[in-house]
Amino acid sequence: MTAQFETTFANLGSSFGSYVAPTALKDAQLLHYNSALAANLGLDLPSIKALTTASDLPANCKPFAMVYAGHQFGGYSPQMGDGRGVLLGELGCNQQLWDLHLKGVGKTPYSRFGDGRAVLRSSLREYLGSNAMQGLQIPTTQALAIATTSEQVRRESLEPGAVLLRVSQCHIRFGHFEYFYYQNMQEEQAQLINYCAQRYLNLNTPNTRDNALALLDMATQNTAKLIAQWQAIGFAHGVLNTDNMSLIGETFDFGPFAFLDDFEPGHICNHSDDQGRYAFDRQANIGLWNLNALAHALSNFIDIADIKNTLAAYEKVLSSHYYQLMMTKLGLSSTLSEDNQQLLQQLLKLLAQDRTDYTYFFRTLSRAPDNALDLLIDRAAGQAWLEKYRACSAHIPESQRTTQMLAVNPKYILRNYLAQQVIESTNNGDLSRLDQLLSVLASPFEEHPALDHLAQPPADKDKHLAVSCSS
Ligand code: AMP
Ligand code: MG
Ligand code: MG
Repeated sequence: MTAQFETTFANLGSSFGSYVAPTALKDAQLLHYNSALAANLGLDLPSIKALTTASDLPANCKPFAMVYAGHQFGGYSPQMGDGRGVLLGELGCNQQLWDLHLKGVGKTPYSRFGDGRAVLRSSLREYLGSNAMQGLQIPTTQALAIATTSEQVRRESLEPGAVLLRVSQCHIRFGHFEYFYYQNMQEEQAQLINYCAQRYLNLNTPNTRDNALALLDMATQNTAKLIAQWQAIGFAHGVLNTDNMSLIGETFDFGPFAFLDDFEPGHICNHSDDQGRYAFDRQANIGLWNLNALAHALSNFIDIADIKNTLAAYEKVLSSHYYQLMMTKLGLSSTLSEDNQQLLQQLLKLLAQDRTDYTYFFRTLSRAPDNALDLLIDRAAGQAWLEKYRACSAHIPESQRTTQMLAVNPKYILRNYLAQQVIESTNNGDLSRLDQLLSVLASPFEEHPALDHLAQPPADKDKHLAVSCSS
């Protein structure tokens, strides 16, 4: 069976990127693949092998490196692009087109000083990270497969290299629109707007002004909801540059991300982020900053009043979504009373003050509120909080509260120390830990008694592992 690719993005023309022949990796071996996703896409194992190792690409696959730009740590970089990735094309499935994107296959015209490669460590982190998000039902790009090579890649030291085959409906970033805006390429901007409006919103009329506004609205709503979900689950992305922002609001470009262990609102997971621009508790603000950059890039097509109105919805959508999620995490009704809001704020303050493990606390609270008290250092404050909590939840039958909470408070999350253990064992040729971790991440709200240890918070020495952003 040969995958039948379309090339709708590449067909936009040479202003949108460059055809690139990926370099086949030396001794490439398929390491792991997502069989459920493969089945959904109608791809068999030989096809996956051929695509991931870039060894035997079908004739209708015309790899294309996309050009884009973006604000990196607040400064504008006028030309970036897929420096080590290529869009293989789009596969039709369930009435949608799915981009297949291969990362780590050599230099492209957008590589700048990079080598076009990816290391196994960061490819595995993306593989695990996107699987974790999928299991948590948070919008994300997906990882279809990962392949290794005998070639080493130089980062801080020499490391094993790898490639990752990523799948998403959208590889279009805020930075795509910034590129055409700052290059003053209005015609191409209009072309991109109409392409996206048709593909993501089913708007088939080339009314560029209406389409631009509809896209900005989609990006605003979806980004607000996405970031609300990150805040509720305790996820820090780490590099929220505008070139890492998906137009459709998926978690995109996994780098030095972290799922929080201890609840530390100002946690900075990217150790190159000296100022904490992308700290956990700044993500909501940065989302809006990035949407402003997108809106600016669309400003030739949208009136300023419409831009203001559209962006004004962001904070409301984000906070109402966030509070709804947090109320559900507490097992309370999702309509937000003042008492419930206060209850939440008091809890977050306690968790932050005591540096309590965020995931473990909510899971414990779900089953046995009294045991959750043991996770707090300030017992008196904890006891007072628990009494209020009991009062706020008194009208809900205990079994209903527990069931509701267990369905939204994961037992398993992708803790950095677990990812690190998997990277080490996979490097040593043992895939059993990778399989085990993936199996709990696929259903993180279920119990997996034989794998209980994967729910453990880290030992002190394994907290705050510095994750290099080199990848
Ligand atoms: P990132 O920080 O991973 O989002 O990447 C920022 C930009 O640098 C993107 O345009 C990437 O394509 C490019 N890039 C990152 N790593 C490499 C690499 N090893 N070789 C070439 N380009 C890279
Ligand atoms: Mg990126
Ligand atoms: Mg602690």
